[in-house]
Amino acid sequence: MRLKDIISAVADLFYPRLCIVCGSALTSSEKHICTSCIASIPRTNFHLGARNSAEESFAGKAYANRVFSWFFHSHDSKFNKLIYSFKYNNNYKLAEYLGELYAKEMLSDGIKLNSDYIIPVPLHPKRKRKRGYNQSVHIAKGFSNIFGGDIREDILLRTKETETQTKKIRFDRWDNMKDAFEACIINECDFEKEIVIIDDVTTTGSTIAACIIALREKGYKNISVLTLAYAEKW
Ligand SMILES: [Zn+2]
Repeated sequence: MRLKDIISAVADLFYPRLCIVCGSALTSSEKHICTSCIASIPRTNFHLGARNSAEESFAGKAYANRVFSWFFHSHDSKFNKLIYSFKYNNNYKLAEYLGELYAKEMLSDGIKLNSDYIIPVPLHPKRKRKRGYNQSVHIAKGFSNIFGGDIREDILLRTKETETQTKKIRFDRWDNMKDAFEACIINECDFEKEIVIIDDVTTTGSTIAACIIALREKGYKNISVLTLAYAEKW
């Protein structure tokens, strides 16, 4: 046993690390979430060909090659704690860990998502300053640890500060979002690259659709989408 492992085992005895979802003590090999909670994540199985309601949510507005979301998100789900933790509790390491877990699961199911470039949905600079980080960048890191690909934060910019989506009714969300992003051309060779847009949660798909449209307008052709969670009813 390495000294580092001994120290963390002793620390666990006095200050047990707890599962974010159920609150039970984690074993030394577990991180953030216990094995049994990981097993009970309400998976969408979109990557296995289940009816893909995330894809349908923005189908009329934008086209993506593939759309994947790991788990269903709802108001009363105990798994909301995960999202809350990496979004509002500074737990960006959890975002990276979940990105990794999802990518590993896709790989073990035989799914490979080509990702020359990984583009996290950008936050408006004001909101990023307030939060201190963009959670989608960390999900992207986790995804890239498994699938590879360069994380690019220079191609897609957020040009408009939007109100929180959850406060708006579905009808208003598209108006709020549709011109919130702008894509840049860094090198025309990039148009042919396989791009994966990454976000934490998709609800109506308005944010993702606006990102796809901004990229396509400039000439980017191969765009897929991956989000950790998908809220079917919000
Ligand atoms: Zn648990």
